[in-house]
Amino acid sequence: MQKAVFLDRDGVVNIDYGYIGQIERFDIIKGTALALKKFKDMGYLTVLVTNQSGIARGKYTYSDFLKVTSFMQANLSLYDACFDGIYCCPHHENAYVEQYRVSCECRKPKPGMFYYAERDLKIDLHHSVMIGDHATDLFAARRAGISSLFLIGEHLKEESPLCPEAICYKTIGEVVEFIRKNQ
Ligand SMILES: [Mg+2]
Ligand SMILES: [Zn+2]
Repeated sequence: MQKAVFLDRDGVVNIDYGYIGQIERFDIIKGTALALKKFKDMGYLTVLVTNQSGIARGKYTYSDFLKVTSFMQANLSLYDACFDGIYCCPHHENAYVEQYRVSCECRKPKPGMFYYAERDLKIDLHHSVMIGDHATDLFAARRAGISSLFLIGEHLKEESPLCPEAICYKTIGEVVEFIRKNQ
């Protein structure tokens, strides 16, 4: 069994401009690649768990999402920091695109994507970590049995009261240092 660091995408890995379906709008946040590499060096798998309701809403397609994913992985590979697993929820219950109009089990705050990763990558969820920029990311992880919850990014003021057990930092680099000292 492997421990893993789960990360949300928009607002954690890249700047969240809203509904990002093109590589031209995919800007990796400074420090992300180095942080991913350090997590790997500490023996964690790195797993992306991202809600992409923009697909259901018809803002961009699943194929666009895959192009952005390839671009992201290519950039991270320069630092030896590719994700080991990538899970995406393309659904929304009020979707414009009928194919994705589902009340699914994978859209965070539901825990589905964590269970898919557990199954595929043999992950030990109880010794894993979640890093998100919204409380809903952390609720999903908590439901899956992850107790090490980190909130980072631009929304700490609004989101931290919603998840009092979350450890809050401005940057992912600070999370790496915390985990390094406390593991
Ligand atoms: Mg986010
Ligand atoms: Zn879903």
